[in-house]
Amino acid sequence: MNNKMWLSSPHMGNAEFDLIKAAFDSNWIAPLGAHVDAFEEALAGYTGSGYAVALSSGTAALHLALILVGVKPGDEVICQSMTFSASANPIAYLGATPVFVDSERDTWNMDPVLLETAIRERIAAGKKPGAIIPVHLYGMPAKMSEIMAVAEKFDIPVIEDAAEALGSLYNKKACGNIGLMGVLSFNGNKIITTSGGGALLGNDGKQIQQARFLATQARDAAPHYQHSHIGYNYRLSNICAAIGCGQMQVLDDRVEKRRANFDFYRKHLSLLPGISFQPEPGNCHSNRWLTTLLIDPNITNGITRETIRLALDKENIESRPLWKPMHLQPVFAGAPAYVNGVSEELFNNGLCLPSGSNLEADDLARVVTIINRCFAESPVLAESH
Ligand SMILES: *Cc1c(COP(=O)(O)O)cnc(C)c1O
Repeated sequence: MNNKMWLSSPHMGNAEFDLIKAAFDSNWIAPLGAHVDAFEEALAGYTGSGYAVALSSGTAALHLALILVGVKPGDEVICQSMTFSASANPIAYLGATPVFVDSERDTWNMDPVLLETAIRERIAAGKKPGAIIPVHLYGMPAKMSEIMAVAEKFDIPVIEDAAEALGSLYNKKACGNIGLMGVLSFNGNKIITTSGGGALLGNDGKQIQQARFLATQARDAAPHYQHSHIGYNYRLSNICAAIGCGQMQVLDDRVEKRRANFDFYRKHLSLLPGISFQPEPGNCHSNRWLTTLLIDPNITNGITRETIRLALDKENIESRPLWKPMHLQPVFAGAPAYVNGVSEELFNNGLCLPSGSNLEADDLARVVTIINRCFAESPVLAESH
């Protein structure tokens, strides 16, 4: 049996281990230290954001961002439905209610027209949403100009979930540095990793300072432990930040390789009947974190995303259905949702292919061969060729 091929596995560069060793040598084995400072500087520099605070996870960053914009129990927060549950969970942590908005077809992200409909209805019902969380799915930037225009019209803060989109650009601007604040993740499967970690980006120094304060147990300035706020233990360790500093050195290489993975898959699969890929509008530059395709069973004569997923699984290759929309998740069954059918269709027909930056040419070729075989073995399609 071949070694397991993962969807997206960690890919270390050359510097990470030496940087960890430097942290050990200086005995900064703590959630602060020189590597944390350097990592934050690197993130702010790379994204063009005024400030970055390194945190224990992307989920923690979203939680803090919602606190900073003043979301309280009983409030409503608009969230893209097509996403990973971590985009929505922090809304529930605060006792607020997520209001889900469906996707458009050009980027698979939050539909700005439906967003405006949702806001107007919520306001008419007496509840102005406290924040808007668009997501840059699989690295593809959402339609931020349109989303920001709607948000500004109603004066609602936008928190970008850029957990999957470090290295992606929208109108040449870094994802995560377009809304009021942006959230990054360095979980093990993301484009770069610190083994676990996240960051909050923003351009309001006071706001980001407040995030730093809340993330370190909200300790007031005093020689003893003095507290006038509820705090959190959300800072990133200096060891993890050392890994992050090394990973930042290779981020551009990782983006280039992931985009090359996508180009290879598209070149070798897009001629199959019924197969299409996540589009990339002209003003977007996606990091192509994951290559995602759609299989239209009306055209493939019954070949579904499950046919392909199971064929890959039999060969010890991991692939995965697209995110199941939040408005279809049992845990959010009661939440209001503005739905147009797009995310449900994406979930039904979509598949994420192995996309790691450490995949070899042979690995990608194997995936392509197996998928081609699914189509060659389909009796009806083989006949019609
Ligand atoms: C990974 C991810 C998160 C959460 O990040 P963690 O660092 O794992 O907490 C949030 N949103 C999206 C869209 C993600 O993919």
